[in-house]
Amino acid sequence: MIIHVADLSFKKMIDYDAINTRCQQIGAELTLEYEACNPIFIGVLNGSFMFIAELMKYVDIPAQVAFMKLSSYAGGLESKRVITDEFDLSVNIEDRDVILVEDIVDTGNTLRYLIDKIQTRKPKSVSTCTLLYKPDAVELEIPELKHVGFEIENKFVVGFGLDYKELGRNLKDIYQLVL
Ligand code: 5GP
Repeated sequence: MIIHVADLSFKKMIDYDAINTRCQQIGAELTLEYEACNPIFIGVLNGSFMFIAELMKYVDIPAQVAFMKLSSYAGGLESKRVITDEFDLSVNIEDRDVILVEDIVDTGNTLRYLIDKIQTRKPKSVSTCTLLYKPDAVELEIPELKHVGFEIENKFVVGFGLDYKELGRNLKDIYQLVL
């Protein structure tokens, strides 16, 4: 099925049922790993809002949820390679087990920047979890990246929180750009 978001066409790539199943699996893994840790999950807005909501349904331990907002795209297809903090964490994470929840890792620059920033707050541990990962685009290996929902081709995607020109975030499934 082809859909249109702003001026571009996209085809369905991952449907909601597959995303939900993967969230159940990752949630169960995190439940085992962080039992008795009282971890704090930090969603990176805007793109991770649907993923963190879905994932947290399956994290079956006491856990805190917080958000930060970063931006590395101009709202189109290309990364500006400039990361701007739009709002920062409002909770103290010193000596806490932190799990960063991202929508997508493309070059890895955003995640690296974020982990380094989190580390300055002296957490007990930091690991990360991303819904999507583009192995062919990655410029920086991120050892802290422990959970990946889906490895995908190096093509632009929208849906399930991810946007193109601020549109498409509300799509239930994930769609890939058709050139
Ligand atoms: P990185 O720093 O890893 O190159 O880029 C990470 C950020 O770029 C993501 O959090 C996301 O906002 C944006 N991004 C990277 N690839 C895509 C994509 O295929 N689609 C959308 N909508 N955003 C992307």
